[in-house]
Amino acid sequence: MCKKYDTVIGLEIHAELSTKTKAFCTCDASFGGDPNTHICPVCTGQPGALPIINHEAVAYAIRAGLALGCEINRYSRFDRKNYFYPDLPKAYQISQLDLPLCINGKLELSTGTVVRINRIHLEEDAGKMVHDDYHGESWADYNRCSVPLIEIVTEPDIKSPEEAAEFVSKIALYLKYLDVCDAKMQEGSIRADVNISLKPAGSLVLGDRAEIKNLNSFRSIQRAIESEIARQTEILSEGGRVVQETRRFDDATGTTSSLRSKENANDYRYFPEPDIMSITFSEEDIERAKSEIPLLPYERVMKYTKEYGLTDEDARVLTLEKYLSDFFDEAVSIYPEYKSVSNMFQTEIMRRVKETDTEEVPISARDFAKVCEMADKNTVNRNDAKTIIRIMFEDCGTPEEIAKANGFIVVEDTAAIAEVVDALFAERYDLIEDYKNGKTNVFGFFMGQANRALKGKATPMSVKAYIEKKFSEV
Ligand SMILES: [Zn+2]
Repeated sequence: MCKKYDTVIGLEIHAELSTKTKAFCTCDASFGGDPNTHICPVCTGQPGALPIINHEAVAYAIRAGLALGCEINRYSRFDRKNYFYPDLPKAYQISQLDLPLCINGKLELSTGTVVRINRIHLEEDAGKMVHDDYHGESWADYNRCSVPLIEIVTEPDIKSPEEAAEFVSKIALYLKYLDVCDAKMQEGSIRADVNISLKPAGSLVLGDRAEIKNLNSFRSIQRAIESEIARQTEILSEGGRVVQETRRFDDATGTTSSLRSKENANDYRYFPEPDIMSITFSEEDIERAKSEIPLLPYERVMKYTKEYGLTDEDARVLTLEKYLSDFFDEAVSIYPEYKSVSNMFQTEIMRRVKETDTEEVPISARDFAKVCEMADKNTVNRNDAKTIIRIMFEDCGTPEEIAKANGFIVVEDTAAIAEVVDALFAERYDLIEDYKNGKTNVFGFFMGQANRALKGKATPMSVKAYIEKKFSEV
């Protein structure tokens, strides 16, 4: 069936920067804390208090912009966005209107769609209202006031709910790799506003759009868009018009509902922020910022396939999380057997870490590399190596200590090898004759018998070497 309408989606992504202090004062910017303990006269807008720009926040915003292919405005300015709400004690938000830090970036999706990024600007977050319905009271917590945010605004280039979810998850991954945002959606570190409209299939004229505010999971972004497409399709099919408005998404019902009519920039009475100097960048500033950008996910994938010789799939899985990719890189820098370390890492480390909520591996990369090496060199057998990793996760101890304490170290008892193999050769002389007549598969029989008899006393490699020597002598 022909599609009747094309979907047109643009996103505004708010990402909280993980700077130690707030955007315009020196208050602690970390998440949590007792209500109103991370506040001062500046971030609560007391008369006479003056904001001072946090240069770390500017550097983070620039880093994100450069990684997303943006141009950096050499001259940038802050503006006041005025509106009244109880979680905003100043009654304005310091933001950027016409001279944002970054413009004209882009990000490509797996579908081949290139999403243009109109701008990335720096602004401050608002506080939080806590409603106590039982007592009929509302409380304001200003801890989040003035925590630095970047807002990433795309052009309406996204064509489906899946593309929108992929875009946001890619942005989240990039920001984590850049170390500028922890991307914890459950803590509100990343929120997205979605602008969505439908137009007759193939038409160049955009339809009227609705905006869905404050979506804070990849799943709710996708579901909200799906529900909005269904709603707008129904209105248009019946000859109606979509009202330009701001809507909210209800996770429980999976539907959107009207919140308020859409504001325009005029409604906010923007004007230049008089208390903060404008920001200028020299070419050297930009070059220095560029040089500080670490390898991004797609660049690590290339490194893993080209330099390490791993498959595309392995490289993709290993780079899904920065902390895992960092751990893997450290392990192979110590023991550069890429394929072997990758296999052990995916089966024994990633699986275990996924079962926990923490974003860290509780053992050191050095110890992990050591276990991989012990398994490869048959110092311990592979199953015992996996047990060592399990014990290290649950308990402390180095791989060597655990291997010794549990009797995992394979001993090379050369006298025992000679005794067992010599006896086998004497016993099954008939098979030696077969071997001489070209039946080389009897080698496997000797290996199997000898390994069974020598379990725990010798590695298969030494047994094989001794049997090969014996055959060369017959
Ligand atoms: Zn403060």
